[in-house]
Amino acid sequence: MEYKEFEDISLIRAIQTRLNEPRIGIHLSDLDLCLKKAYYRKLDPQPISRKQAVLYAVGFGVQKWLYPEPEKLFIVDDIDCTPDYTGVEVKSTRAAIKNFDPCKPHWLFRMMGYCKVLGIDSYVLSVVFVIPAEIRSWRFKFTSKEIEQNWQEALARRDILRIAFQKQQPPSPDFHQVWECKMCECSGFCLDQLKDRMRFTRIRFAA
Ligand code: SF4
Repeated sequence: MEYKEFEDISLIRAIQTRLNEPRIGIHLSDLDLCLKKAYYRKLDPQPISRKQAVLYAVGFGVQKWLYPEPEKLFIVDDIDCTPDYTGVEVKSTRAAIKNFDPCKPHWLFRMMGYCKVLGIDSYVLSVVFVIPAEIRSWRFKFTSKEIEQNWQEALARRDILRIAFQKQQPPSPDFHQVWECKMCECSGFCLDQLKDRMRFTRIRFAA
């Protein structure tokens, strides 16, 4: 037997192709994180890293394995929504189980958005932990006020992204969470990411 390691970039290509599949309209998943990233992914897609490819593959795989039914499309206020499975949001994470906080703003945003389009007020979040292998679920119940406020935010973000697409200019100001830049394929040229870095450098030197 002989074997040798080689660089197989087919996985990265397959994930990249999937990420860059042209999508008509604005999806709820375009609105929960950095709007600038959503803009670039649609109008000027950048190559993703190997690490991103693997993480996306794990995420897609977990979702398809747990809930293989085809996604259903719901369109409300010109926002396309494709819940993983009616009433259940599936996520995978490399985070530790101990002290895990399921209340991540972008997960809540998505679940409340799906509650709005499905006309329900509770949602299950199932999180697959990669190491150690584990799955945990939480049932969230939201008030109608929370769901409505969340939807108003979704509409505001939709409008910002829509204007950016019309003008073909990245949205500004943007709404990214700082951790996003580390895993973003646009970080090499995105000025907001550089501004964050400079701000942190200043804070570190000032401390
Ligand atoms: S580098 Fe950061 S701010 Fe820039 S597009 Fe990516 S996530 Fe958004």
